[in-house]
Amino acid sequence: EGLIEGHVGRGTLVKRAYFRQDDEYDYCEQTTPSWLLGLSANGDSLLGQDERTLSGTMFTEGPQPQMISLSQSIPSASMLPTERIQQIIAESLDGARESALGYCPVEGLQMLRRHIALRMRQRGVLVDVPNILILSGSTQGLGLIGRFLLSPGDEVVVEVPTYLGAIQTFRALGAHIIGVPTDNEGMRVDMLEAILARRQPRFIYTLPTFQNPTGSVLSAERRRRLLQLAKRYQIPIIEDDAYGELYFTEQAPQPLKAQDRYGNVLYLGTYSKILAPGLRVAWLAAPEPVIERLALYKQTFDMNTNALGQWIIQEMLSTGWLDEHLARARKDYQHKLTLMLEAIERYWPRETRLYIPEGGMQLWCRLPGDMRARQLFREALREQVSFYIGELFHVDGGGQHYIRLSFASVEEQQIVEGVRRIGVAMKHLRAW
Ligand code: PMP
Repeated sequence: EGLIEGHVGRGTLVKRAYFRQDDEYDYCEQTTPSWLLGLSANGDSLLGQDERTLSGTMFTEGPQPQMISLSQSIPSASMLPTERIQQIIAESLDGARESALGYCPVEGLQMLRRHIALRMRQRGVLVDVPNILILSGSTQGLGLIGRFLLSPGDEVVVEVPTYLGAIQTFRALGAHIIGVPTDNEGMRVDMLEAILARRQPRFIYTLPTFQNPTGSVLSAERRRRLLQLAKRYQIPIIEDDAYGELYFTEQAPQPLKAQDRYGNVLYLGTYSKILAPGLRVAWLAAPEPVIERLALYKQTFDMNTNALGQWIIQEMLSTGWLDEHLARARKDYQHKLTLMLEAIERYWPRETRLYIPEGGMQLWCRLPGDMRARQLFREALREQVSFYIGELFHVDGGGQHYIRLSFASVEEQQIVEGVRRIGVAMKHLRAW
């Protein structure tokens, strides 16, 4: 009668009822079809249930009122551009039916590409429309470039620690990942050189500006050196610049690509952090032949990126609204970082070491003494607060004593309360 089901390794269980008993769909999607059992694990997310919970990749829809999530680096609800989107749709959608709601060129809406190229030139990157490929999120870009350049077993270089999503993507493609240590000036480029001299990785993945998770910025000298190495060893660099426009300093940091004279840098930008991740619009800036080949490749996966999202962003760019929004976002996140630091000072033990960023959305913290992030996380969940544990960002098994807090994802009051709750969890773990 479909009331119980067996799971390999988990036993026989009474089924959870997702639908009413008399619903004809009651059990058809809950059992494991036999053809699935024979498949290899290739393409799995490579995170077990435990890690998925720990990493917050078990996304929940809508707010969970009790839980304060300092996990994801996303704009808080109040920073999402709802009113502006409503206005754009109300005022202009009728006149832009075809571009906003039809299929569009796989490379992306021409106008959007033009605006992006212009903005990149203002940031010192000499690109034009043919150098821009619009993507369904920079995650798609990592996957496309990865599939394009890698065969299973190939090596790639990443920073330690680095962005969790990139680790997952490269692993899912069968890559062998080599980690290069980082310090407060970003990747240890001196150590990279030794790796390149001995091995033949297919590319270097780096986050030079407001690194995820550490917040560091790659120093000018190391940027020069990194580009020299790319040239000498003929190896492409993927620059992931998700946070570069969220700076708190007077001067805007330049992308690494601004100094790329040989087309070795494949630059990924995204609107997920500066506007809204739900729009799923990002871009790749790269030499034209690379864009041409990746565009053909992309077409087989999604035909084209969400045209409505592209069109909305194009409208925001053409009126200059995005710059106003960015100015607000920078102020808001800097203020939230200050609040977070004050709350940490008040509620956490003194020995916690903080890596204070000059932009971005996250604060990297070394926990006091021998306190372990995993244990703290479990204690913190009981206090209804979450964050990312350091291990998730490490390909070398390190990071046990580190956590990453997002100061952008919640409103002001929740920052202080979230930090306070973590302080309570720390107290439970050890008396200091
Ligand atoms: N790169 C970095 C460094 C990120 O932090 C994120 C989002 N967490 C992404 C890429 C993915 O962004 P997108 O939504 O554009 O796929």
